Amino acid sequence: MMSAPDLYAVLGNPVQHSRSPRIHELFAAQSGQRLRYERRLVPLGGFEPALAALRAEGGAGCNVTVPFKFDAARAASRLSPRAELAGAANTLGWDEDGRLWGDNTDGVGLVRDLARLLQRPPQAALRGLDLLLLGAGGAASGVLGALLEAGARSVEVWNRSPERAQQLVRRHAEAAAAQGCELRASEAPRRGHALVIHATAGSLGGELPQLPDGVLHAETLAYDMMYGARPTPFVLLAREAGAQGHDGLGMLVEQAAESFWLWRGVRVHTEPVLRQLRAELDAQAAAA
Ligand code: NDP
Repeated sequence: MMSAPDLYAVLGNPVQHSRSPRIHELFAAQSGQRLRYERRLVPLGGFEPALAALRAEGGAGCNVTVPFKFDAARAASRLSPRAELAGAANTLGWDEDGRLWGDNTDGVGLVRDLARLLQRPPQAALRGLDLLLLGAGGAASGVLGALLEAGARSVEVWNRSPERAQQLVRRHAEAAAAQGCELRASEAPRRGHALVIHATAGSLGGELPQLPDGVLHAETLAYDMMYGARPTPFVLLAREAGAQGHDGLGMLVEQAAESFWLWRGVRVHTEPVLRQLRAELDAQAAAA
């Protein structure tokens, strides 16, 4: 008799909007892997019991989304260096001894998508660029190390609660110095960045950070980690300012591909999956 397919899930709150189950279904079909991937709404404060329940059902691993990425890093008994630096994990798995490991694939996912948009190789995707990172939560923490590694000339971090931006910058100061990148936290974003990355959870409630005029301009590539059937509020704001605005669907597919690789040891082709997802979202928008 054939054994049951391996069980994975995405844990978050909210989680209903997540396209991760669909992405992993497409990856599994493309690579011939047998797995089941579910969406699980976890009550605030209930991350550890939800993780234990998944394991008790035979779960092999999970993705973790807003707001549990810091809980996920704390729950793991072994963290990858990039998750350690971030202090946040978006990918968990149990090894053969039943020990929980944690990793963070958000940064590599974002940089691969930015490389695609900028038409540059991922290793040098951000060489010489000045960046503004909006937000200092799990998503921002997860990507900062990868942004430094991809060769950014400078990164300014802004957050609604400034002390969290300062903490994030302090934690990455050594990595920034090693990469020759000027990293700073600021309370009022400067103008003139080539790339502005929106990593706050404000989009989930349709709220945007208040930016001074001129931060988004005709030469800006504005990237929203949020995605949806219609352009996100941040993408619309960027386009109104004449900037190029992109949502985070490409990042979502790329970070998922890296998680799939960690769990299954298989590299998938992301372009057809991204095209398929975009077509499905467009169809959803047209039907609404
Ligand atoms: P967290 O809850 O960890 O962090 C929330 C962040 O958003 C904090 O910086 C918080 O600021 C800020 N914030 C929340 N509400 C507002 C608001 N109304 N105005 C300004 N700032 C606000 O969430 P995550 O970092 O995990 O997720 C952030 C976003 O990124 C989500 O929309 C998520 O879906 C998206 N994401 C997309 C991915 C992709 O693959 N495309 C991957 C990962 C995340 P403060 O510190 O002041 O509270």
